[in-house]
Amino acid sequence: MTEILALHAFDDNYIWLLRGAGHVAVVDPGDAAPVLAHLERSGDRLCAILATHHHGDHVGGLAELLSRYPVPVFGPELENIEGVSHPLKGGEHIKLPELGLEFEVIAVPGHTRGHIAYYGPSLRDNGTLFCGDTLFGAGCGRLFEGTPAQMQDSLAKLAVLPAPTFVYCAHEYTQSNMRFALAVEPDSIAVQKRSEHVARERAAGRPTIPTRISIELETNPFLRWDEPTVRAAAASRLGHVPADAVETFTAIREWKNRF
Ligand code: ZN
Ligand code: FE
Repeated sequence: MTEILALHAFDDNYIWLLRGAGHVAVVDPGDAAPVLAHLERSGDRLCAILATHHHGDHVGGLAELLSRYPVPVFGPELENIEGVSHPLKGGEHIKLPELGLEFEVIAVPGHTRGHIAYYGPSLRDNGTLFCGDTLFGAGCGRLFEGTPAQMQDSLAKLAVLPAPTFVYCAHEYTQSNMRFALAVEPDSIAVQKRSEHVARERAAGRPTIPTRISIELETNPFLRWDEPTVRAAAASRLGHVPADAVETFTAIREWKNRF
């Protein structure tokens, strides 16, 4: 039985910790300190590190962790990350034997050019996704290195995962993303309800992550390029009807950049 715990880092990062039978793996340790504190407190043994992309708030803790625990480090082969021992591309599978877990690697370029996500179909019954800065609660990552077409294609790969899949992204951005989702679809009951729910959770100091693919499909404007409401919102920004999903996604992303 694997537990998934959140460690907080910086202002709004989550470092996800997979824990079972005295072993832990960590996802995107931007800072070593909270991971080291957990290991000292619990007596757990670090068995692996998974990285989604090269940004410092995701890999900044690698050197210090590796200096104490020389464990395998999984990461994207298309990015130059010091310390990655197992470079991965989309479609590959990894095993974490100490935890009895397996993940499929999904290539999700857009936020960065080599960004990868880890999908564990059996973890937490319904499956889990660790997607870094690609899909957020009600949002998606900024396009620093990829094109809108790449990001839309990447998000489309995540959108077809089983609806109950738990989504563990790397930032707590849901509440501010909900304000934008409401601007895109002000009449959506699902968006209104989620917005109220998220506000209550945050006011109580609780995380809004994990979310689920099903929730994102209903309320995340960056997965809803086929919905008439979202296409209409894109059309009003563009001044013409978007030709396809990529044009809709691009218009929504540009809008959010200025929101
Ligand atoms: Zn990032
Ligand atoms: Fe980040």
